[in-house]
Amino acid sequence: MVAAITAAEAGAKTVVIEQKLQAAQSILATGNGRCNLANISLAPKRYNHPEFVAEVCDSSWLNDVLGFWNACGLRWTLEEDRLYPVSRQAASVRNVLLARAERAGVIVACGRKVEQVEINDDNCTIKILDETREPAQYCSLIANAAIIAVGGGASSRIAAGLNLEQVAESPILAPLACENSPLASLNGRRAEVIAQIYRGTFPQARERGEVLLRDYGISGIVCFNLSRHAQPGDVITLDFAPDCNASELRQITDPKLTGELVDGCLDGILDPLIAAQIIKLAREQWTLADDDRADAPSSDVQADPLSYALALVKGFPLRVSGIAHPELAQVTRGGLAINQFEPTTLAIQSCPRLFACGEALDIDADCGGFNLAWAWKSGMVAGNAAAQLH
Ligand SMILES: Cc1cc2nc3c(=O)[nH]c(=O)nc-3n(C[C@H](O)[C@H](O)[C@H](O)COP(=O)(O)OP(=O)(O)OC[C@H]3O[C@@H](n4cnc5c(N)ncnc54)[C@H](O)[C@@H]3O)c2cc1C
Repeated sequence: MVAAITAAEAGAKTVVIEQKLQAAQSILATGNGRCNLANISLAPKRYNHPEFVAEVCDSSWLNDVLGFWNACGLRWTLEEDRLYPVSRQAASVRNVLLARAERAGVIVACGRKVEQVEINDDNCTIKILDETREPAQYCSLIANAAIIAVGGGASSRIAAGLNLEQVAESPILAPLACENSPLASLNGRRAEVIAQIYRGTFPQARERGEVLLRDYGISGIVCFNLSRHAQPGDVITLDFAPDCNASELRQITDPKLTGELVDGCLDGILDPLIAAQIIKLAREQWTLADDDRADAPSSDVQADPLSYALALVKGFPLRVSGIAHPELAQVTRGGLAINQFEPTTLAIQSCPRLFACGEALDIDADCGGFNLAWAWKSGMVAGNAAAQLH
């Protein structure tokens, strides 16, 4: 929609072909219905291909995105670094977008699915299945330029028809399943943690924030961000007392230096239900099998219930078995390979009439408004360049 509006405002006759019966519906689910539309700390390093993102989105990136929304009549507010519509309703973002598209003369053709795109010397032929007819009928649209803006998980079919290079797709920004999690009984409890991923002995990524314990593993924004780096077999550790170092923790839990692990001794620092489970596991000397981390508790520590409980508080290990509930994933990694694009226009080098933007490309980022900021800005770049061909 952003690409279409930009192209239309630059003078091109523009049609959006949308398979759903309503346009821009995906916005409604974003940010838990509130649409975290951008982040004031936009930076290429937050993305999987920082150099490419830096070439597409120059230093005016945030200004361009906010300028676009300002011109739509949207007002926004900040929560830490994250930008939300001031109404805190994703419907505000969608409604102003649709209204601006209408003002710009964009034709929005819903209930039509793009099946194939053909590139000819002086135009593109877009083959569409019109599902608003009974029975559904095929039709074609001939255009000077086409922009692939199908989001994650949908570009492979179009790419195959055009011989475009495609990076295998997988869901990310999703809950993580953990093998036999001893925290499964705490399903639904939340905690502020520092979570860290290890592959064998080596730390891979670290993130602070809220984790949601689930019967299958873990969820929450911290987990979503770590899911960009996690592989099956990795160990995730949760530090349940991120603001307490080990000696402060010992002072609080054992003020009289008895060395005893007393029920309730962690209740002033942790959710008592999480604390009770950690104490139980420490007393049972529960361990994670094949834990190769250099800082995994030694057998001496495991043999001392108080020391072991405190070690589990500062780094509770869970074994990742993969993405849980791919249908809850916010983003698809993979898609159209970036090396085939001209970064200043997002045209495909081998077919200059064909452009792409948003999640259709192999670009992904952390939670926090970065994925939508990429979608908006890349849409502006592609829409503007495509309009030059009209
Ligand atoms: C639950 C959820 C919450 C999220 N929250 C946030 C957030 O708060 N902040 C953030 O930055 N990111 C968020 N994201 C990610 C963000 O929504 C996406 O990165 C962004 O929407 C990608 O935009 P896009 O235009 O590339 O693709 P999409 O928004 O997916 O739009 C693609 C459109 O193309 C249509 N389409 C697909 N195939 C065809 C076809 N063959 N023919 C016709 N039409 C087709 C689809 O129906 C869809 O309407 C969230 C994602 C999810 C799932």
